[in-house]
Amino acid sequence: MTYTACSERYQTMKYNRCGNTGLLLPAISLGLWHNFGGVDSFENGRAMLRRAFDLGITHFDLANNYGPPPGSAEEMFGAMLKSDFAPYRDEMIISSKAGYLMWDGPYGEWGSKKYLIASLDQSLKRLGLDYVDIFYSHRPDPNTSLEETMGALDQIVRQGKALYVGISNYSVEQTREAVRILNRLGTPLVIHQPVYSMLNRWVEDGLQDVLKESGVGSIAFCPLAQGLLTNKYLSGVPADSRAAGSSVFLNDSQITEESVSKARKLNEIAVKRGQSLAQMALAWVLREGRITTALIGASKVSQIEENVKALDNLEFSTEELLAIDSILQS
Ligand code: NDP
Repeated sequence: MTYTACSERYQTMKYNRCGNTGLLLPAISLGLWHNFGGVDSFENGRAMLRRAFDLGITHFDLANNYGPPPGSAEEMFGAMLKSDFAPYRDEMIISSKAGYLMWDGPYGEWGSKKYLIASLDQSLKRLGLDYVDIFYSHRPDPNTSLEETMGALDQIVRQGKALYVGISNYSVEQTREAVRILNRLGTPLVIHQPVYSMLNRWVEDGLQDVLKESGVGSIAFCPLAQGLLTNKYLSGVPADSRAAGSSVFLNDSQITEESVSKARKLNEIAVKRGQSLAQMALAWVLREGRITTALIGASKVSQIEENVKALDNLEFSTEELLAIDSILQS
């Protein structure tokens, strides 16, 4: 059936400014790392993308290697752009990345100019686009100078193949240096994409300060710890979960008694706040404007609907924050 976007799509979503830039991002963004590959149901992916856009999610996060097979999530999104979203391209922020292994030989991964430029050209073909809105260096390369990797990002913007650039998985020191180089080149860093959730708080140890001082925005990936911070695993590992499936990134050995016990205690606080655990976990990541947007994944339309409702209550009392800290430290 032909898709027409919901006319009320901008009424409830919150849009946050990305650092000091002109770019506004929805408080919740959707990533296509899992569940949008060639092995997944196209119709389920389509339903999730349509519902997300109808709920005001304007930002879709991809990478060259998302699938499986690698590249197929970009192909899927490209097909959706053609069939459903063509009239809405200018209402969307589409990002892609390069850094992890994408093809054989010495030029298929890491941070050389050769790899980044070639990989983005391939991504644009799969997406059927002339440019992406944000292009990231997906991980720092210990064997390539930051000057070269940042130089490639600068060149990509000058060639008109991306509007903004970002970095992902860069340490505090690497971020400081990337900011300095990109400022000198005249293509300022717009966004950092780190992992951040109640179960992984490394960004609080210096990265958030550097980003704030430098006017750079942030997008937190795995804010639900791949599902651990939802009600999914509170009483066992369901057959339709990522942990029970073929993902190599989460398996049932990671669903430990310790993590489930923490999730149960956190869930009690969430219930008192009138939220699900997933909603509280997202509100916590977004608390006090610490990050620009929470980058969720989903396997079902209902999860996106539930997660967007996190925005109804982003406030935490001091007592709630202390109670959460004490559970996380236990
Ligand atoms: P999340 O932590 O949001 O986990 C998403 C998973 O949690 C879903 O697939 C689903 O799992 C489960 N879930 C979500 N909502 C609910 C809910 N309401 N109730 C129950 N279960 C729920 O994020 P992801 O790990 O998926 O990562 C999000 C995005 O971050 C990626 O798509 C990608 O764009 C980006 N990313 C970036 C990385 C980087 O290096 N830059 C690395 C990893 C991710 P289930 O399938 O079990 O239903």
